[in-house]
Amino acid sequence: MFNKSGYLFLLIVAVLLSSCEKQQPKEPIVKLYVFECGIHEFKDISPFSPGVDEGVAKTLGNSCYLIQHQKGNMIWDAGLDDSIGTKGVDFWEGNLHLTVTNPLMKQLAEINVSPEQIDFLGISHFHFDHTGNANNFVNAKLILQKEEYDAAYGKEPEKYFFSPDSYSKLDKEKAIQLTGDHDVFGDGRVIIKRALGHTPGHQVLYVNLEQEGPIVISGDVVHYTKNWENMRVPSFNFDKEESLKSMKMVAAFVKEKKAMFWIQHDLEQNAGIKHSPAYYQ
Ligand SMILES: [Zn+2]
Repeated sequence: MFNKSGYLFLLIVAVLLSSCEKQQPKEPIVKLYVFECGIHEFKDISPFSPGVDEGVAKTLGNSCYLIQHQKGNMIWDAGLDDSIGTKGVDFWEGNLHLTVTNPLMKQLAEINVSPEQIDFLGISHFHFDHTGNANNFVNAKLILQKEEYDAAYGKEPEKYFFSPDSYSKLDKEKAIQLTGDHDVFGDGRVIIKRALGHTPGHQVLYVNLEQEGPIVISGDVVHYTKNWENMRVPSFNFDKEESLKSMKMVAAFVKEKKAMFWIQHDLEQNAGIKHSPAYYQ
């Protein structure tokens, strides 16, 4: 069909095309975005460190995450309800003032992600400061431990400081109920790890990025660095023994993987972490 110069022409075109391909940056397997999802101002932080720092004020942050895997999108924790706004609300007899200065839905829109595009909703636990915006992710499959499911959809969710209105629009029938760890996309890059105690079915997240390497994201296995260093269990945790076991398990896992350990509520640590629209890969 082709003469010699015809073949030569095709060969040149093929070489040019393949070199073009090489110049295009490779799309990462996983991108990790961090969002600011509220501020918690405590007048007395000691419920988090029983017997220590009584009457000492402390401000905690609140973080949410988007994991963009080539096979799908997962939100990890849905923060404080965006509607709380900058005026804020009081909790715990005035000990706690909550505000949201940067709504999660606005931050997602800024990176052109709509809530309908979220395939999975991983919630570390169902305290209201982690489910605030959950109802926006109506297409997402919930991923949670069975114990958390039973508490969240049982007779008395409020007993566990859950706010059922905040997750009422999610389809509980298609939830993925776990009794252990779960490899979300099947390639070891994004793993939910069972870490009970803070609530009946608390869990943490492990993300292994190509460039940044492994990161463990805390849920509320701990709330800030000082308590992590001293292995302190908050007085309001569901199960103290399980909480301590989980803290030790997570600490050993972080060490084994040589992972970074990100504490979701630690305001000071989060100041050094890149936030959306920047991302980790
Ligand atoms: Zn929390």
